[in-house]
Amino acid sequence: MKQLLIVLAWLFVQQMYAQQRPNVIFIISDDHTSQAISAYGSTLAQTPNIDRIAKEGAILYNNVVSNSICGPSRATLLTGKYSHINGYKFNEKVFDITQPVFPEELQKTGYQTAWVGKMHLGSLPHGFDYLNILPGHGSYYNSDFVNSNNETHRYNGYVTDVITQLSKEWLDKRNPDKPFFLVVGHKATHRSWLPSLQDLGAYDNVTFPVPATFYDDYAGRIAAQDQDMSIEKTMLLTEDLKVNADYESKSAWSSYNRFTPEQKAQFKAYYDKVTTAFEAQKPTGKALAEWKYQRYMRDYMATAKSLDRNIGELLDYLDQTGLSKNTVVIYTSDQGFYLGEHGWFDKRFIYEESLKTPFVIRYPGVIKPNTKVNQVVSNVDWAPTLLNLMHTPIPDSFQGQSFLPLLTGKMSGWKNESYYHYYEFPAPHHVYPHFGLRTARYTLARFYGEKNFWELYDIKNDPQNLKNLYHDKRYAGVIAALKKQLKAQILKVKDEEALKLMTE
Ligand code: CA
Repeated sequence: MKQLLIVLAWLFVQQMYAQQRPNVIFIISDDHTSQAISAYGSTLAQTPNIDRIAKEGAILYNNVVSNSICGPSRATLLTGKYSHINGYKFNEKVFDITQPVFPEELQKTGYQTAWVGKMHLGSLPHGFDYLNILPGHGSYYNSDFVNSNNETHRYNGYVTDVITQLSKEWLDKRNPDKPFFLVVGHKATHRSWLPSLQDLGAYDNVTFPVPATFYDDYAGRIAAQDQDMSIEKTMLLTEDLKVNADYESKSAWSSYNRFTPEQKAQFKAYYDKVTTAFEAQKPTGKALAEWKYQRYMRDYMATAKSLDRNIGELLDYLDQTGLSKNTVVIYTSDQGFYLGEHGWFDKRFIYEESLKTPFVIRYPGVIKPNTKVNQVVSNVDWAPTLLNLMHTPIPDSFQGQSFLPLLTGKMSGWKNESYYHYYEFPAPHHVYPHFGLRTARYTLARFYGEKNFWELYDIKNDPQNLKNLYHDKRYAGVIAALKKQLKAQILKVKDEEALKLMTE
């Protein structure tokens, strides 16, 4: 009898513990930037569901990445470590699955774990009870998915809708007695931008204002001068903007080869009109650059529209199933992106638009509605924060720190500086490798390789990073202090490659 009571008491405690621990849904898109989200101030974007998460919880204004590129950002999410430690420095590498990842810690404390959608790490990491992920970038239409057994299945439909459907199906069949952690990894809004059929033309009545820095002359900024990621020169009329698109193309790039005849017909009807409009105008020079910009924005924003609608569908599912109350919902992206600022698309730079990435989080009863966070936090802090949210110990080897106390107003001090190191060079966009520090006030960066130079920006007075102050003698003291801070960071995060360059 006594033994039975002990067992019952133990089961009761376990049950209490399980109830206290929240479920977490971590939605991570690809290349969806804050400038395309109304909660972050965009007046033209239609993102009511991302805005809803922000309104019912917290919005982070200075959530930065430690290496502004797709796979490396996800590798940092999984490991809680910088690229030079987890080994995934640039895309098209294979993530080393023998290293620890944070979902393994969650499994130890009784969580069910799953990742659905885009992961793009070239391998199948441990730590997930269920995987159904895109091979590489996957396809916008009728994509393949790879499951935990490394089996490939094709799912018909638009990829953002399919990812939501698969996520809901996993939630339906999970064990309801255990808490869960689910990553919903979206392909949207990665290049090349193919909107859902229902969203074709969604922004055709909008004329997007050309950003103030669209005609940036890159004066005093060598890396910005030498890049190959401009809308004017790099963006392709045919492959990117579907002018005179080859609908019979077999290339993986277009993914038209996966379209059904019906999908192809609808797509063709829309983009044939775009081609006709282009041919009627035949813009050149500045007019061509701005025409490309408008088309880019319309395709990008239309692709994001499905993303937001699908987030709404998942929020509705949580409401309908009664899960909302005890489920944390996070929306973020793997990094920021240029929407014409400096004349660019793509990412990579330590400059603000690609360094920062959106982050909104809803945690009913714990994070107050309309919470606004301005401190600098990094994607290296995501894994510790997630473990913290799910009452799971954070391994000592993790390099970040939980920022949950910032969101609940229980912390006043914070490190407020973030280390950065970008590697991928020269292809595809010719951005020189660089490392540096982003503090609440400044960005200091050291570019290296083919060309070696430093840059300093005053974020407060120059949030667009247009004026490199490194050679301004008035900043000698600031530079010396920041270099000291940077070196301390490099030692702390054990980046030997950067340390060598600092002391050269
Ligand atoms: Ca990305």
